[in-house]
Amino acid sequence: MGEFLALGRRDPADESEPFNMAYLAIRGSGAINAVSRLHGSVSRAIFSDLFPRWPKAEVPVGYVTNGVHTPTWDSVYAQRLWAAACGKEPWVGTMEDVSAKIRAMPDDLLWGLRMSNRKALVEYLRARLLRQYAAAGESPEDVKLSQSVFNPNALTLGFARRFATYRRPTLLLHDPERLARILTNRRLPVQLVIAGKAHPADEPGKAMIRQWTQFVKRPEVRGRVVFVADYDMMVAEQLVQGVDVWINTPRRPWEASGTSGMKVLVNGGLNLSELDGWWSEAYAPEVGWAIGDGREHGDDPAWDAAEAESLYELLGHEVIPAFYTRNEKDIPTRWMARMRESMARLTPRFSANRTVREYTETYYLPAAAAYRKREANRGALAEEIVNWRRDMSEHWATIRFGSLEVASAGGSHQFSVEVHLDEVVRDNVSVELYAEPTDDSRPVPISMRRGTKLSGWENGYIYSAQVQADRPASDYTVRIIPSKPEALVPLEANLIAWHRS
Ligand SMILES: *Cc1c(COP(=O)(O)O)cnc(C)c1O
Repeated sequence: MGEFLALGRRDPADESEPFNMAYLAIRGSGAINAVSRLHGSVSRAIFSDLFPRWPKAEVPVGYVTNGVHTPTWDSVYAQRLWAAACGKEPWVGTMEDVSAKIRAMPDDLLWGLRMSNRKALVEYLRARLLRQYAAAGESPEDVKLSQSVFNPNALTLGFARRFATYRRPTLLLHDPERLARILTNRRLPVQLVIAGKAHPADEPGKAMIRQWTQFVKRPEVRGRVVFVADYDMMVAEQLVQGVDVWINTPRRPWEASGTSGMKVLVNGGLNLSELDGWWSEAYAPEVGWAIGDGREHGDDPAWDAAEAESLYELLGHEVIPAFYTRNEKDIPTRWMARMRESMARLTPRFSANRTVREYTETYYLPAAAAYRKREANRGALAEEIVNWRRDMSEHWATIRFGSLEVASAGGSHQFSVEVHLDEVVRDNVSVELYAEPTDDSRPVPISMRRGTKLSGWENGYIYSAQVQADRPASDYTVRIIPSKPEALVPLEANLIAWHRS
């Protein structure tokens, strides 16, 4: 029991430390992945505690960005349009030519999809509200009014999620008067559908829902904004099919991935979201709109206010004009360009097909192959790895560095360093030059060659390497890490020794 609990602590020896499920999971896993690129980098920072002295970039957490099961979320109209463009099963196989085929779709067909989907949403909302209002005992007048909410031709915005504080579901309500003005512009009408749920014990979440239900009751926005109770997958399905723009306002970097915005893609909906989760890797000006500056600001109220401001600005100056600027056939051509590019570029990329393929290729198949190798010959390799690990951890502390010499000439740096491996088997380790990457790429340590044996010492050698002098020699540090081609480092041998000059 004690041993088991220790697996859930940063410091296994510290019995006062609370048990952490994620730590246990990491210690029991042969591979670890996050669910978006940003989530990968956040997770490497969170779990760097488990890999002390390892560079953050080498904390062994990769990522596979989530995707949605596209056939679950497409409307009948979307299904028809994609089938006409790409054949019956666009979401199987490598989806190679899907993008080109959607890019070739004419404006009127794409716009037709939006019109049909929006109209279906309006009908759904009226039927849903009829039941919702009747069940809540609203006045007959209100029940009657619910049958004329929304306009099938008006720009339709949607926002639906669990009302957790980090998602800032009331960011749009930051300045309610301003939101009301946006919604009630006669010439450029905008309508907004909100759906959400809060955990029964989540008081701030419930308070945010009340803010919306109160806003919805304002006489001037009647019929222009709808709150749908009991958000679930059936509601989500209708919403993601019908809206023109899906809004998401989490506080970066709290949204691990987010998938609801992916569900609108196949239906030609556009995203306007915080640069967080999947949107921080999907966003480009050609495919939608973004708020945030790609940095973290904690829960600074001034920053929330600034983001609310940029949300209103985007809506007022970009989204709404783009929707209502029409050509002679009454088609919003700028909107169509974004919609086409969002569908072509993002729908295949954020589909479960791509996700499952990536899991299979980068995680499952390698894991299965590694397992087969380890278990062959009655687990000969597995046993070898266990012994290698034991040898490493028993003797690691005996490793010492001697002097380091650096000579820079002819456009390169020549490093040589004395290493005393003492009781550690020399083939079990690798001596490397490490430099922090200058961008957010993966570091590429340079392997040092073992050379002359140090005289007067057992198991001591000079290691050397030459690197191009495009960075100063001081950027590089010599280090020793456990090394075995079939083993996972640092996951299975969490040891590292740095040369300190
Ligand atoms: C897709 C979906 C979610 C998850 O979406 P987020 O982007 O995390 O909000 C949550 N609830 C329902 C009902 C969904 O359909």
